[in-house]
Amino acid sequence: MHEYSVASELINALLPQVGTIEGQIVGVILKKGELRILSDQALTNAFELLVEGTPLEGARLVIELVPVSVSCSSCGYKGAVDHVSDEAFHFAVPILSCPKCQSKVDVQTGRELFVNRLTVQTPSETDSE
Ligand SMILES: [Zn+2]
Repeated sequence: MHEYSVASELINALLPQVGTIEGQIVGVILKKGELRILSDQALTNAFELLVEGTPLEGARLVIELVPVSVSCSSCGYKGAVDHVSDEAFHFAVPILSCPKCQSKVDVQTGRELFVNRLTVQTPSETDSE
């Protein structure tokens, strides 16, 4: 499953960093571009499976969606594209065109996939609960 290998790569990249963090990592905030055809549920499941036995065990994967924005070199349009919310979008990557002049556009945002930040619970915060 594609989500499984994506989650695996993310975790492998994270693990060297988390070794230096003091406290318990309770959340991993992932930025996912709208153009990424990845199931949030499958990603979360894969994440939970893969972090077992690692310092990330028990952390919750939080997926934040990055909306698509484009820029058009023909007419200078910059901004969102309309048809991204179409039902069909969830099954195939659409060919994006400028909503003003229909030219091919450059995608500015929407292809991201990276860990934005970690939520860490330090031991002192645990004690106060
Ligand atoms: Zn245009």
